Amino acid sequence: MVNVGILGATGMVGQRFIELLAQHPKFEITALTASQRSAGKKYEDATTWYLDSNMPESVKDIKVVDTDPSQVDDVDIVFSALPTENAAIVEPKFAEKHIVASNASAMRMEDDVPLVIPEVNPEYLDLIELQQKNRGWDGFIVTNPNCSTIALTITLKPIYDQFDIKRVYVSTMQAVSGAGYNGVPSMAIVDNLVPFIGGEEEKMETETQHLLGSLEDGVVTPASFGVSASCHRVSVVDGHTEAVFIETEDKCDMDEIHAAMDQFRGMPQKLDLYSAPEKPIVIRPEDNRPQPRMDRNQDGGMAVTVGRLREDAAFENSFRYVLVGHNTIRGAAGASILNAELINEIM
Ligand code: NAP
Repeated sequence: MVNVGILGATGMVGQRFIELLAQHPKFEITALTASQRSAGKKYEDATTWYLDSNMPESVKDIKVVDTDPSQVDDVDIVFSALPTENAAIVEPKFAEKHIVASNASAMRMEDDVPLVIPEVNPEYLDLIELQQKNRGWDGFIVTNPNCSTIALTITLKPIYDQFDIKRVYVSTMQAVSGAGYNGVPSMAIVDNLVPFIGGEEEKMETETQHLLGSLEDGVVTPASFGVSASCHRVSVVDGHTEAVFIETEDKCDMDEIHAAMDQFRGMPQKLDLYSAPEKPIVIRPEDNRPQPRMDRNQDGGMAVTVGRLREDAAFENSFRYVLVGHNTIRGAAGASILNAELINEIM
């Protein structure tokens, strides 16, 4: 077994890590960290558990420690669910000795840090060697994208590989869990919609281009098509919905688009990684799907569900669809775990 730690283990994403890792066949949770508010307490006393599942027995008695490498022994991989500002300071310290699989945005766009979705751009892991050389670390940092970007980019990948994308417009309807437990006050969101999520549109635009770019001689050149995002918070607990509008250089056959998405498989499927969904994209034919409550848990929350795939008659060479992805599983903890499974398998 590989010993793993979770940084920020008491939070929204930290709890998803615990839920997903408690039964993992290759990773064993041996360390949990949080802020000084929680350090020194047993995990069950430090944590208000938010998930539908019960807190796993195996973690209840683990003592939560301060998020500092000197407090964490005998761990090979640490999963980071820290707020960005803490991640920026702490993740590099952990990377001196450990593998850090991070959800936080702090290090995502660093030139020598791989930003990876295993089905989309596993080759970016080649940056690890450069990172270790540049920084003199024995460990390294690998990051996964922002939650809404992950779901979008998984659906774009098979289209991008076979057709010439000119522009992507995306309008999101994002769940409140995406902001953490204390993130959105109930008075702001019940019976309401908030048409702004700080930094989210910029992340969706730059991360999508970065993920679908190319890596040559240690340098990532982003994809050149335009991405325009409008991000909104809605009164849904888990599961981000996105309305996606794509314009291609030439006219596309809708059956070919459907087949490309349906048949899409990536390296996690080829390697049969434990957390890999059988199909990264599940297409629903019904007019009223996907819906977050019904589709977010598709394949353990690791598959993205697409529906309403149709031509867009208003514009030339255009089509559109709606997707749902689980923001704290495929969009956060599950994404980091899949990155770690890939690294564990191939490195
Ligand atoms: P959260 O619920 O607010 O949890 C934050 C965690 O970090 C808690 O364990 C907290 O410990 C700990 N923490 C807070 N301040 C700290 C400090 N100064 N030093 C050490 N630990 C500290 O946040 P979240 O929603 O889980 O998000 C965690 C990270 O994942 C963020 O970077 C977020 O942007 C990213 N992310 C979230 C989602 C999502 O859907 N929620 C998706 C993708 C990425 P205490 O309990 O002791 O305060």
